[in-house]
Amino acid sequence: MTSVVLDRIQDVLPSIPRWSIKVVVHDIAKPQQSYSSPKRYQRIVFADGSGQKAMATIFDNDISKFEKVFVLFETYKISNAKITPLAEKYNKFGYPYQWIITARTAISHEIGHAIPRSATNLNFASIGQLKSSTQNDELKDVLVIVIEKWAMRTIVASGKQHIVRDFAVINQDKKPVILTLWNSVAETEGKIIEEAEENMPIIRATRLSVSSYYGISLASTPTTAITVDPQIIEAQNLKNWRANNGTIISDALASKEYLDHEDSFHATTEKEIYPLIDAQKDKFVVRVRAKITDYDQKFFYMGCNQCFSGVDAELNHSYTCASCKEDALAKPRAKLFLNIYDGSEELDVIVFGDAAAKILQVNSTVSMEMYNAI
Ligand SMILES: [Zn+2]
Repeated sequence: MTSVVLDRIQDVLPSIPRWSIKVVVHDIAKPQQSYSSPKRYQRIVFADGSGQKAMATIFDNDISKFEKVFVLFETYKISNAKITPLAEKYNKFGYPYQWIITARTAISHEIGHAIPRSATNLNFASIGQLKSSTQNDELKDVLVIVIEKWAMRTIVASGKQHIVRDFAVINQDKKPVILTLWNSVAETEGKIIEEAEENMPIIRATRLSVSSYYGISLASTPTTAITVDPQIIEAQNLKNWRANNGTIISDALASKEYLDHEDSFHATTEKEIYPLIDAQKDKFVVRVRAKITDYDQKFFYMGCNQCFSGVDAELNHSYTCASCKEDALAKPRAKLFLNIYDGSEELDVIVFGDAAAKILQVNSTVSMEMYNAI
């Protein structure tokens, strides 16, 4: 049987028994531990000469076999990788398959006949123009300087424990934002940032989701990959900008505007409930111990963006609010059931909005995404 030499990823189909194609490594993540099974896996995104991308996965024992094989931005000829259908929600590239690379997959490094860098469109998002994405919006790649790092922390959202790690990032757009890495991406890709030699490293982060609940922030998705100091012209330009704009960076660090709504996430480790009660109409201050007794609660509700009245509607549904009579959009708002105890009495309480987000250490958009993901 003859092998078909293909140029386009779109033509690589399960119906073709023997094929080969030349592709470039668009990004490559560190091996990760699956959260839902004992499997380990490593994801690589390949691109053809037209910029079309395909996700490839290496599993378990095969990971170590390819440890030194694939290098970012290098070109390879891949033959007869196993092709499996990709569930629609994981199809980020308009190509409905993923490739499984195993020890039996033939790979050759194409040094003399590489796909030119000009053909691989890296397409970085402008941070100044980021808008909140709804679920269908495309994911963004960014090239940024990490100006502040925080330790890994654990949160509970939608009944599950999650590991998150936050970074403040900035680039030529002069608009610092928070980048939050989640779960195995926080552990593996976050470690790459932590181990960077430079104090304020330049990173490329791929396939991020954009949230606007607390101003614009970025969050990793399960296939996010991070590269420190990528060897590309855009990174060299950003390096020059960093060298010439120390004042902008130190002003951003001093003002910490990016923490406007998140200060409690990082400023304190001890969470006390009395400032929240103090904010109520009949003011009183009581120091209590609070516990979340129901980990299956949603941690958010959908409500009117004007008056916060609850509504049974999808995100961004536009309607006339029955409570405030305004034109409203359905937005998530943090909501938390707690049990508090002052040493003598227990009381069940409900906490809303920023106060609930502070205790949860997660905003309602993220709670909603976590809830929808399960
Ligand atoms: Zn309303």
